[in-house]
Amino acid sequence: MLGGAITMGSVRWPGLFHAWERQVIAGIGWDLITRCVAECGDTLPAFDAPHDFFFCNQVHINPAIYAALCDECVLSAGVTLLLHTMLAAVETADDGWRVTLCTKDGLETITTRVLIDCTGDANAVAGYPIQVSDECQPATLVCRIAGYDLATLDLDAINRAFDAEVRAGRLRYTDASWNADRANVGAWLNQAGQNINHIHPCNACDSRGKTQVELAGRASFLRLFRFLRAQPGLEALRVEYLAAECGVRESATIVGKATVTTDDFTGGRLWDDAVCYTFYPIDLHNLSPEGVEIQLLEEGVVPTVPRRALLPAGSRNLLTAGRCIASDRLANSALRVQATCMATGQVAGALAALATQTGIEVEELPLPMVDELLLAHGAIIPERQATAGPAYGAMSPLSTV
Ligand SMILES: Cc1cc2nc3c(=O)[nH]c(=O)nc-3n(C[C@H](O)[C@H](O)[C@H](O)COP(=O)(O)OP(=O)(O)OC[C@H]3O[C@@H](n4cnc5c(N)ncnc54)[C@H](O)[C@@H]3O)c2cc1C
Repeated sequence: MLGGAITMGSVRWPGLFHAWERQVIAGIGWDLITRCVAECGDTLPAFDAPHDFFFCNQVHINPAIYAALCDECVLSAGVTLLLHTMLAAVETADDGWRVTLCTKDGLETITTRVLIDCTGDANAVAGYPIQVSDECQPATLVCRIAGYDLATLDLDAINRAFDAEVRAGRLRYTDASWNADRANVGAWLNQAGQNINHIHPCNACDSRGKTQVELAGRASFLRLFRFLRAQPGLEALRVEYLAAECGVRESATIVGKATVTTDDFTGGRLWDDAVCYTFYPIDLHNLSPEGVEIQLLEEGVVPTVPRRALLPAGSRNLLTAGRCIASDRLANSALRVQATCMATGQVAGALAALATQTGIEVEELPLPMVDELLLAHGAIIPERQATAGPAYGAMSPLSTV
């Protein structure tokens, strides 16, 4: 299904669309999120939580309704969808790219003038260099459990029993929390299993690595489930759902025509080719005692993403969007979040549409032309210095993007 980590990984709390009480990311992704909230009869947060409570400004959505809305929206825009299909190969062709797809009934080749890689893992960048950390951040397998009353549980006794199982090599501390050095089963139970384990090591760039992560995630989940059901008060614990895929925080990033560094990010750099804002604290998950390193942004800072961070160095008419855009490790730990992925996705789509319509290479498209198409679909453009350029007429509707 469409939706990536939101739907398949059940990471269903997208953020951040707002910074310092003003909206900095909108457009097609935001429209989908707000339609999902309205469809379910839910309400949006007030978006006024202070930055150290940034998680309160994320929007909780129903992934099943979100997936169905994605289908509806994409199909009504005239897009042809091919699900159950993986990438087999990308090669240069006369005027663009030849892409071989692995479908259920065999290989199929298509050609395209402009190609966008939004695999999260930079799988489709046609051999242009990528960067992978020696050790990626741990993954998380999301689930939802029920069937117990937290207030009546003896958490100290459960933690002692958990500790003994860890010392015997039958459990890991990170099966039940982000804490790598102590038993904290209450964290998992309090969150009902949502985003509160760490699966490591995690190398999710290829099928073998992804297989290892999925197996390790479900093995962790099963040993924890067996342990918990043997504890007093948890005999009736049940699983309401388990995400279809482990949520991956980090895999590969491209080597771009520009790279967003940690200093660019924390300093709120306004790039001269900024195409969208991005906003989130540095959020690096690891195997430290707390399991995560968070560095809040200073008051008023709103970083931006340059167009060149979407473009592999040396490439033509090749774009990336989402988690794999060019950024150093710490900057990526922040701009990997879903609102920024949605914003870069819309930018990549607009660049590809304009490059196809005009024949101009994606890096050379005049920014006023790009801005006009983005604004026509509700995006927010960073307030960079106005670049002089010709006036452009109305752009084509969404169905051609
Ligand atoms: C546990 C966890 C908690 C998180 N918490 C938050 C949070 O609180 N707020 C927030 O906003 N973000 C959060 N994130 C980050 C965020 O979910 C991801 O970084 C983001 O969704 C990545 O989006 P993407 O579009 O780049 O990739 P993905 O969402 O992974 O989408 C990639 C898509 O490409 C497809 N694909 C991949 N490879 C291929 C291939 N070779 N061929 C064909 N198709 C392919 C996949 O099936 C998928 O549909 C969290 C992530 C995790 C794992």
